[in-house]
Amino acid sequence: MGRVRHINIPVFIPHMGCPHACIFCNQKRISGSFSTQTPENVRRLLEESFSTVNDEDHVEIAFFGGSFTGIPEVEMISYLEEARPYIGNGRAKGIRLSTRPDAIDRHILSILKDYGVTVIELGVQSLDPDVLSMSQRGHSTEDVVTACALIKEYGISLGIQTMLGLPGDSLEKSIETAREVIELRPDMVRIYPALVLKGTQMEDYYRNGSYKPLELEEAVEWCARILPLYREAGITVLRIGLQGSESLEDSIVAGPYHPAFGELAESRILLKKMTDKLDRMEADGKHGLIIRTLPELVSKIVGQNRSNIRKLKEKYGFKKIDVLTGPDYGEFSFEIINE
Ligand code: SF4
Repeated sequence: MGRVRHINIPVFIPHMGCPHACIFCNQKRISGSFSTQTPENVRRLLEESFSTVNDEDHVEIAFFGGSFTGIPEVEMISYLEEARPYIGNGRAKGIRLSTRPDAIDRHILSILKDYGVTVIELGVQSLDPDVLSMSQRGHSTEDVVTACALIKEYGISLGIQTMLGLPGDSLEKSIETAREVIELRPDMVRIYPALVLKGTQMEDYYRNGSYKPLELEEAVEWCARILPLYREAGITVLRIGLQGSESLEDSIVAGPYHPAFGELAESRILLKKMTDKLDRMEADGKHGLIIRTLPELVSKIVGQNRSNIRKLKEKYGFKKIDVLTGPDYGEFSFEIINE
C-alpha cells in the first residue's frame, strides 16, 4: 500500500459582498477577475478533484477567499451542502475554512459543526488595537478572544493568521501579538509579512508616502524572532509568507515578497542558533570550522547564496568553513579545527 497523502481540495469562494475595507485586502479586485462561485461549480470541482484521489488519502475540503461565515447564511449552507456527501461517505476527513473573528457566533458554529467543519482559520492580523484600527479591520482584540474561545468550545481546531508590518506595527508589537496569540492556544498559525497589493488602500498610502512596507531583510528578521516563540509553545506554524503564484506576483506593488520566504526565515533561525553556540564557545578567527548537519538542512544551514557562511566568516573571522552532511548528524554540530 502506498503512503497516505494529505490532500487539501481548495474551493475559492470570493467574498464579493464583504462590507469591510481592510486596507491591505484586494478581495474586490480578485473577485472581479474570477467568475462568481456557484454551488454547481463547487459540485463539479469536488467531483473532478475526488476522482483523482485514492481512498486511503487523507482529504480535506478547504473553503478559502474572504470570510466564509460572513457570506449570507443561505449561500454558505449551499456550499456546505455540496461538501456534505463526501463527509458522509468518509471520503473527506473534514472541512477547513477561513473567516473573520467577528463573523463567528454560536449559531454559525453549530451549523459548521453539523456539516463536519474541522478547522477554522481566523484572520487576526494583529492583536494591537492601533494596528487593527489603522488597518480598518472593523473588529476589536476582544472579538478575537471571544471567537477563539467559542471555536475551541465547539471542539473545532483553531488556526490564526497574523500579518507583520501593517501600518503602525513594530517588531515589539508583533512579538507582543505572538505572545497573546500563544495565550489563545491555537492549534496552528500562519505568518504573512504585509505586502502592498494593487487596488488596495495600502497602495494609495504607499504611493503617497504615508506607508512604508518592511524591507525583505527586516521581514526575515522579524519572522526569525517570532517563529521560535510559536514552536517553543508547541504551536504548528503552517506557513510563513504568502504562497507564490503568477497572479500574486502580478499584483504586488511593493513589500517583502520572496518566493521562498519560509526558507529564508528558517535559514535565519539556524544562523541565530549557530551564532549563539559559537558565542558560548568563544570561537575566534584563528581556526577553520566544520559544520555537521542533516542532508535536508544543508541549504538552510548554508543560507541563500551562502549568506550564512559569509556572515559566520565575517563575524568570527573563520578562514574556512566546511559543511558535512550525514543522515545521523543532528540539526548541527561544530568542530573547530586548527589550520
Ligand atoms: S480581509 Fe476579509 S474582511 Fe477584510 S476586506 Fe478583505 S475579505 Fe473583507
